[in-house]
Amino acid sequence: MGHPHAQRQTQNFIPRLVFWETTKGCNLKCIHCRATATDISSPDDLSTEEGFQLIDQIASFSKPILVLSGGEPLYRKDIFELAEYAIKKGMRVALATNGTAITNEIAKKIKDVGIARVSISLDGHNAEIHDAFRDIPGSFDEAIRGVKLLRKHDVSVQINNTIAKHNSMYMPEILKLTLELGADALHTFLLVPVGCGVDIGEDMQISSEEYEKILHWFYDESKKVDIDLKATCAPHYFRIRAQRIEEEKKQGDHSTPFIPHGTQLKSGHVDKVTSVTDKKTGMPVQALSAMTKGCLAGTGICFVSNTGGVYPCGYLPTEAGDIKTTHFKEIWEDSKVFADLRNPNLLSGKCGICEYKYICEGCRARAYAETGDYLTEEPICSYNPTGDGDFNQVHSIHQEAEGVMPEMELRWDDKAKEGMKRVPFFVRKKAVQSIEAWAKEQGISFIDSEVVAQARAAKEQR
Ligand code: SF4
Ligand code: SF4
Repeated sequence: MGHPHAQRQTQNFIPRLVFWETTKGCNLKCIHCRATATDISSPDDLSTEEGFQLIDQIASFSKPILVLSGGEPLYRKDIFELAEYAIKKGMRVALATNGTAITNEIAKKIKDVGIARVSISLDGHNAEIHDAFRDIPGSFDEAIRGVKLLRKHDVSVQINNTIAKHNSMYMPEILKLTLELGADALHTFLLVPVGCGVDIGEDMQISSEEYEKILHWFYDESKKVDIDLKATCAPHYFRIRAQRIEEEKKQGDHSTPFIPHGTQLKSGHVDKVTSVTDKKTGMPVQALSAMTKGCLAGTGICFVSNTGGVYPCGYLPTEAGDIKTTHFKEIWEDSKVFADLRNPNLLSGKCGICEYKYICEGCRARAYAETGDYLTEEPICSYNPTGDGDFNQVHSIHQEAEGVMPEMELRWDDKAKEGMKRVPFFVRKKAVQSIEAWAKEQGISFIDSEVVAQARAAKEQR
């Protein structure tokens, strides 16, 4: 059986999302935290100068989205200096915070500096659930206050939610709260048993069957809501999505387009560079949610620890190198662990024989936590591949999604239309609508590449 990605070369991979743990210091002690944070002070963090060097090294060959995380990044005094530096280098910068340190001034500063999005974690739809998870009474109210302040200053907000036993039954309520808060995205994350999570992994993890149900719910909800709805670190969502579409086609139902109306985002991680180009640097810039595939640890994303260690993701503790001794580009291109993760043919266990492995790959961190081998099977997936599945059929379903265009109200020339196909499929509809809205405002009824460029420039200036 042929497999479409067998010839992938390591130099074809560029970082699309880099998570930088700017500090381990934090004011909360969340039970699922990867950072095992206990204290606000964190003396081993990279210095400002080392941070600049890291940004320079990343920018020397790529313009990823840089997610400044922690610990609590707002406890770093130079956090805005670092953000501004990365933005100047052509990166889009996001901030991952627990929201408790956001004041009116900080929200304004975030807007003024140009941070593209702030993600705030809510682990329940009410104080009772969230505060128990965070182990600090009042943290829910503070996080909500933080979200409201950010929205007041028109900062794009993403709600992050970790699914575990205590909240898995409240997904509809969490989605409702996200919509009420005016957030642009809800990203839910399945607990990975590392960090403090090691202690609670068994008790808190939901079963693969329950998770399967939640991912089907995601598929259904993604057709209805008009925000980015994403099951993060649930690579098998891509298997579920492909299965649902296969099933719908078998039933003769072609009425549901691959990209459901109103949906901007499905699941997974970054997989494609978009056609968006930074006006100043001429380098490609990626959409904030450029994600079209399952686990991209080491292929599209990586994690830099507070001391400069580079890892495939924040939950996979297999160090690929250290930026204090090796250039980031060299680590990204040459490390063994990244090379392994770029070759799905090395996967073993049921992921190794699964026809969905090229669009899913399973969570390598959960495989590692369970067995010590990051290439073995994902433990929280209820699919049992026979080994006879058709890789090519799966691949063509996936590619179909890449090519589908949303309905267009105005007339577009072929080149402009082709250009939109390079925008990730789950944000394509929104991109088309935004360009058409701008064109209508200007009294333009025919869209060519020049109009697309003008609409984008106008949007960036807003
Ligand atoms: S290994 Fe992949 S799916 Fe798992 S936590 Fe890391 S990035 Fe997410
Ligand atoms: S068996 Fe592995 S590759 Fe196949 S769907 Fe499950 S997690 Fe993905």
